[in-house]
Amino acid sequence: SFESMIEFSEFKTNEQGLIPVIVQHYKTQEVLMLAYMNKEAFNNTIKTGRMTYYSRSRQSLWVKGETSGHFQYVKSLTIDCDNDTLLAKVDQVGAACHTGNPTCFFQHIAGNDFDETNPLRVFESVYQVIADRKEHPKEGSYTNYLFEKGIDKILKKIGEEATEVVIAAKNPNAEEIKYELSDFLYHAMVLMVLKGVTWDDIVMELADR
Ligand code: AMP
Ligand code: ZN
Ligand code: ZN
Ligand code: ZN
Repeated sequence: SFESMIEFSEFKTNEQGLIPVIVQHYKTQEVLMLAYMNKEAFNNTIKTGRMTYYSRSRQSLWVKGETSGHFQYVKSLTIDCDNDTLLAKVDQVGAACHTGNPTCFFQHIAGNDFDETNPLRVFESVYQVIADRKEHPKEGSYTNYLFEKGIDKILKKIGEEATEVVIAAKNPNAEEIKYELSDFLYHAMVLMVLKGVTWDDIVMELADR
């Protein structure tokens, strides 16, 4: 059980007496879900150490995990600058989302979602996209154009891009190398997908040397 340094009555709630709660995994910082608390839910959370919400659809108190077993144990609660939003860091048992996804936020609608904490994951992501294009060709895709033209076209492009890297490296403008190396790596990945060579294969080969 916890002790709250602030009473629920000090929060700025909406017309229904609810406050939104952003729920984050205490170790990974992954945003898991958003839910609402009323006074009773907040007090029960403080008392039991288990995240308790107010279900707007069922209009009742809701101990997260009460039917799924996917409880959320409170690590910390923080109120924002204007007292109208809570941030909870939790130890999540199982999946936070009732769909079985670790987080409720899995439906990407814009931009990309690369893991900036591990930038090298971009290689895996791009590789996955190329492999997906091979399986499910997409209208107007340059990757599919390369696959349709076949191995000779891909090898020719790799040769060209390698030459462009060499030329760029002699150019005083260092920016150019970035673009040409990226072009080269992309075409190399197209070849990898075509030949069934994965980044894991490359990593293991390099590690063994
Ligand atoms: P649980 O609290 O995990 O036992 O789930 C009980 C019910 O609450 C589920 O059947 C869903 O209707 C709902 N529910 C559980 N988790 C979520 C969530 N992350 N977002 C929205 N609804 C949820
Ligand atoms: Zn602020
Ligand atoms: Zn606010
Ligand atoms: Zn969900």
